[in-house]
Amino acid sequence: MRQVPNVHEAEPIPTAARAAIDDLLQSGDLFRYNAAQDAPVSLLEREFADMIGTKYALAVSSCSAALFLSLKALGLPRDAKVLIPGFTFAAVPSSVVHADCVPVLCEVGDNYRVNMADFAAKLDGVQAVIISHMRGHTSDMDAIMALCDARGIPVVEDAAHSLGTTWNGQNIGTIGKVGCFSFQSYKMINAGEGGILITDDADLVARAVIMSGAYEHAWKKHKGPHGDNSTDLVDAFARWQNKLPLYNLRMSNLSAAVIRPQIPELMRRVRDGRTNHDYVAARLNGSAYIAVPDKLDPELRAPDSIQFNLVGMSDDETRAFADVAAANGVKVQVFGLSTDNARAFWNWQFLGDVPELPQTRAMLMRACDVRLPVRLTKDECDVITDILLEAAETVMGPVPAYGT
Ligand SMILES: *Cc1c(COP(=O)(O)O)cnc(C)c1O
Repeated sequence: MRQVPNVHEAEPIPTAARAAIDDLLQSGDLFRYNAAQDAPVSLLEREFADMIGTKYALAVSSCSAALFLSLKALGLPRDAKVLIPGFTFAAVPSSVVHADCVPVLCEVGDNYRVNMADFAAKLDGVQAVIISHMRGHTSDMDAIMALCDARGIPVVEDAAHSLGTTWNGQNIGTIGKVGCFSFQSYKMINAGEGGILITDDADLVARAVIMSGAYEHAWKKHKGPHGDNSTDLVDAFARWQNKLPLYNLRMSNLSAAVIRPQIPELMRRVRDGRTNHDYVAARLNGSAYIAVPDKLDPELRAPDSIQFNLVGMSDDETRAFADVAAANGVKVQVFGLSTDNARAFWNWQFLGDVPELPQTRAMLMRACDVRLPVRLTKDECDVITDILLEAAETVMGPVPAYGT
């Protein structure tokens, strides 16, 4: 039998992390605000901001924490409406609820991107927008920013799964007012848990820093782009000292020590992930039963998984496709076909009345999710692709030969 690659195994953490962790174990200096300067978390914030091209970065315990802090730092009043895509991870509506705001869901098309007509129609009365680049699929950021800028509505980018993606050559996460990334193990940089918030806004980052748990004068260890405490930043911290609750969502030095040596690996991971994805996508698109949606023109993707839609299959055939693939060793998750998928909006019952989104629902019922770790070789990609193509033919019969 073919050797099916294990797609759940992570890439090893670069060995440079070991020395840094050893030092931390030796000194016991795990809290980010102990050292007078250059704590691993502070160094990570500077390195990440420089790499991505923003003035400020705040490392926290998760992307969910970064999203929550973004909404709090925007100063949204209780019950403010926050527009989010109907296709995202449950952490996104959860962060809105956590911030005492009310999520408004908009439709997502069968290319996994925000439906711009529905987005525009739902924008009135909304006080902030979170654009979730779900599975790294970028919605039309030009159209979104034009609509939101015209109304003065701040945009938070949930770029949890988009690190390394660009839009018109600009890094994803730097287009809105705030960008949030995840270091959870299934993302491009893996620390088990962790997140980071980026922005160019001194006032916003000062508020987020204090609320993340920089009590008393710990904020003095947060620096501007040139390592100095710019007056903008110092003034902002002075404005907010003692005025905000402390939610304690800090990152530990241990996490930063695991993350920092992975930053130089990022561009290689992005390149390899894109090569694997585009190769598998081209092969899958050769089947009449499978469609991998095109990316939008300005977008250069950084995928570590592949999503595709089943074409012309009933619910039963869709289930049978996933079963046959699983029997041959490839796990296919159809977003809408399990009772507990955290990316199906009807499972977000904690929201109370979940509105119906017919277009998003139809997409979720045929959209498949397959992990495609960046470390896979071309042969391993072929094994996965063959199993998927064979599963479609097993269920639907041989693809009709055109032109004969
Ligand atoms: C992983 C993920 C999150 C949550 O990130 P955590 O760091 O686990 O909180 C949010 N949004 C998207 C799109 C994600 O992929």
